[in-house]
Amino acid sequence: MKNGSRNAKKTSENILVRFIHYPVETLGPGRRVGVWLQGCFIRCKGCISPENQPFDDVYSMSISETAAQILSYADAYGCDGITISGGEPFDQAEELLPLLQKLQKIGHTDVLVYTGYAKEKILREHPGIIEHIAALIDGEFKLGLHTEAVWKGSENQTLTIFRHEFAPKYESWAAERKGKLQLVRKNGEIRLIGIPRQEDLPVLLAKIGETSVTENEDKDL
Ligand code: SF4
Repeated sequence: MKNGSRNAKKTSENILVRFIHYPVETLGPGRRVGVWLQGCFIRCKGCISPENQPFDDVYSMSISETAAQILSYADAYGCDGITISGGEPFDQAEELLPLLQKLQKIGHTDVLVYTGYAKEKILREHPGIIEHIAALIDGEFKLGLHTEAVWKGSENQTLTIFRHEFAPKYESWAAERKGKLQLVRKNGEIRLIGIPRQEDLPVLLAKIGETSVTENEDKDL
């Protein structure tokens, strides 16, 4: 599936979306639809996805079409949830809220959002968004703060579960150690899905340069 309407300029009815993919098995419990928003002001040292930092209008999509693409995967495959990452989702908070409202309206309440901002800032500035998500993983990526936890890139980051009906599956997933990563080619680019050990990243990036994968095919590393 291609990300359509990319010639549309960013407006309050559009959102910058780099990539939408199913199945994502490495960013949240179960088999999920993954959504990577484009653009981030934070600029962590050692960011795993610097290509997602620029706010580039070439990735502009209408919020309605973004929701429709997410739902087309969810309807076709019966996903376990939706994970929104980036880039920095809260740098497009004005557009993120109506996207979440559309998803919730049709029953998708297990939405996990990653942010590089601190949870306290998000709770203070974006309570409306918090009402529409199941869980939040927060905090800047800090090079040197190693972790073995599957769900985060550096030890300082934290997981907060807001919808307690999903707590058992999030707690079970959060107890897992790093292992599986996904490598996907889509829309002409190869994407690493999942959060590697900090020390493994240079090797993985070199491997990606050597690896050939078929369009839309997942490959385990
Ligand atoms: S918040 Fe995420 S996308 Fe932004 S610089 Fe940090 S690691 Fe990279």
